[in-house]
Amino acid sequence: MHNFNAGPSILPKEVFQEASKAILDFNNTGLSILEIGHRTPLFEGVLNEAVSLLKELMSLDSNKEVLFLHGGASTQFFQIPMNLLAEGKTAAYLDCGVWGSKAIKEAKLFGNVNVVASSKDKNYSYIPTGYEIPSDVSYFHYTTNNTIEGTEMHSIPQTNVPLIADMSSDILSTVMDFNKFSLIYAGAQKNIGAAGVNILVIDKNIVGLAGRKLPTMMDYKSHIDNGSMLNTPPVFAVYVCMLTLRWLKKIGGVAAIEKINDQKASLLYNTLDALPMFNLPVAKEDRSKMNVVFTISDPEVEKAFLQTCKDNGMYGVKGHRSVGGFRASLYNALPLESVQALCGLIKDFATKKG
Ligand SMILES: *Cc1c(COP(=O)(O)O)cnc(C)c1O
Repeated sequence: MHNFNAGPSILPKEVFQEASKAILDFNNTGLSILEIGHRTPLFEGVLNEAVSLLKELMSLDSNKEVLFLHGGASTQFFQIPMNLLAEGKTAAYLDCGVWGSKAIKEAKLFGNVNVVASSKDKNYSYIPTGYEIPSDVSYFHYTTNNTIEGTEMHSIPQTNVPLIADMSSDILSTVMDFNKFSLIYAGAQKNIGAAGVNILVIDKNIVGLAGRKLPTMMDYKSHIDNGSMLNTPPVFAVYVCMLTLRWLKKIGGVAAIEKINDQKASLLYNTLDALPMFNLPVAKEDRSKMNVVFTISDPEVEKAFLQTCKDNGMYGVKGHRSVGGFRASLYNALPLESVQALCGLIKDFATKKG
């Protein structure tokens, strides 16, 4: 099988092997990873290693805290304004996709939202430019990679206000200065691990910005004070993240995976660009390296293409229900060979049906 699914998605084979071994016998303890206490040196070792691997792979400075939380990226849509946006204050948001627009909706529950720019006018098929981020807002929020629409921001916006990014679908896929951000969050199930855990990188200086009284489980400060162990963490999901981070380090870290990701994306885009049968709705300069969105105009041919994918063990190529067409997700763990196989299939199909 070649797995192009958008999420939960492919992980390295050795991570699956290691994780399944640990379900039966974790580190030769005779115990399953699923039955050990979370406040044991065994699990603390896993969590500490995951935190330090992430700090190392992202080259984080000493102001940054790494948290592993529950609730998926969607919980951060409200937990961020809850912690960082005081009533009567304003936060700036960039509206460039379905996920970002959900974050905007939630932020409005806590304070004022200034949508500095939107690409909704063209189905979120491009990333807006030329907008200004006011210097008096509490923070600026954007989505680095729009998983559903297939656009990606290829540079970090310039601003003097705290920068917050949803990196759920492109975290650790490309080299960037992660220290420029006051808060980074990502659901693990796209590029880092198993569903059920959410990764947060937060600058200590921003904690408590809203000055609001919060339920303990919603308060970033209490999670930091308790080292992501305020309550039982999603033990297995954290373990799978740790294994994937180990794998990423072993193959050479973010710089090494970026090279492979570049190869995969250019191979697929070049193949599609050369074939008139396929349409690419996304502005060229904003194309995502993680989620490649494309369509075929004739619905009958579209159906036939999906069937051909299915017949050839290509999984998860169907587009998101809100966009239609196709989407091939090329996350870190997807080998180049899978993209080569898909490109071969695409060319064959175009020859037969074109
Ligand atoms: C998948 C995704 C989400 C939602 O993640 P959940 O963990 O399901 O809440 C949010 N933002 C982006 C960019 C995503 O790709």
